[in-house]
Amino acid sequence: MKLKITIQLLLLLLLASPCFAFQGKCVGIADGDTITVLTEDKTQHKIRLYGIDCPEKGQDFGHKAKQFTSDKVFGKTVEVEAIDKDRYGRTVGMVSIRGQSLNEELLRTGYAWVYTRYCKKPFCAQWGLLQQQARANKKGLWAHPNSVAPWDFRRGTSRGQQAVTGPLHGNTNSMVFHAPSCKYFNCSNCTMVFSSKDEALATGYRPCGLCKP
Ligand SMILES: [Zn+2]
Repeated sequence: MKLKITIQLLLLLLLASPCFAFQGKCVGIADGDTITVLTEDKTQHKIRLYGIDCPEKGQDFGHKAKQFTSDKVFGKTVEVEAIDKDRYGRTVGMVSIRGQSLNEELLRTGYAWVYTRYCKKPFCAQWGLLQQQARANKKGLWAHPNSVAPWDFRRGTSRGQQAVTGPLHGNTNSMVFHAPSCKYFNCSNCTMVFSSKDEALATGYRPCGLCKP
């Protein structure tokens, strides 16, 4: 009896899980991080790329990020690994083309930020490193020293404020974040980049006791 209940529960969990993969043709690009995929059954799926955030249309590099995504996948067959649904009913997932992850490619080329608030998978720390490398090499949007994160842009954070708060680095191991003035700012595990203290706190990180960011 107990075993039967467990099996039913497992089956239920399996069916309820939004984690599934499918293929389709990319027929629309709304943004660097949002595309439309048409599957064989003629259904259109709006896909929001998991764990990253591209600059908004009104932002520097918003258009370039969209162009990059378009050049990569528009009119081509992509694989979608659905992870979640967002509050707009869009599928949130990983998009890849011929085995290459578009999510990662956008980070690597400096056309996206790791969406720290929503990127919760173990590989997100690795993505933080990709972002760090793009930033160090001044790729894409990182050509500007005070690039405003899209989530701050949407909230209407001014550039002036951004320059003062600056980037903060989070230690993915200790979950402590540091100000640029801190001697631990570029520690080996400090691969998470936050644009503000609020962002770091919302992600569950604690301020460093030494630099008090
Ligand atoms: Zn510190």
